[in-house]
Amino acid sequence: MEDCIFCKIIKGEIPSKKVYEDDEILAFYDINPIAKVHVLVIPKMHIQSLLELKEENKDLLFHIFEKINEVSKIVGVDKTGFRVISNVGEDSGQAVKHLHFHILGGEKLPTR
Ligand code: AMP
Ligand code: ZN
Repeated sequence: MEDCIFCKIIKGEIPSKKVYEDDEILAFYDINPIAKVHVLVIPKMHIQSLLELKEENKDLLFHIFEKINEVSKIVGVDKTGFRVISNVGEDSGQAVKHLHFHILGGEKLPTR
């Protein structure tokens, strides 16, 4: 996807502050954090959102959640707790059309 910001981050064309990377996924700090700790976890494969997921992506999805677990430890929110969000479509405010999971923590989060 040529004009996808997250694909550019994966290719190294846009810099990012990486937390974790492997062949399938990348985790990096959000450029505009809305919590003291705000990390994004993305698949390297361009998938628009959760709505695009297919049966064949099930191993990838499990891998993402395993690594969300690991990233929470790396950034030190596993003991205090955190929130995982994936925005889908217009009403959610999804700005980047490349599947991503926000990890928010490091402070008490608003309950709504
Ligand atoms: P969403 O609104 O769920 O699509 O979230 C997109 C997120 O990507 C926002 O929280 C942005 O701050 C973040 N973002 C956009 N560009 C970058 C970038 N170059 N590096 C890190 N995070 C970014
Ligand atoms: Zn992309």
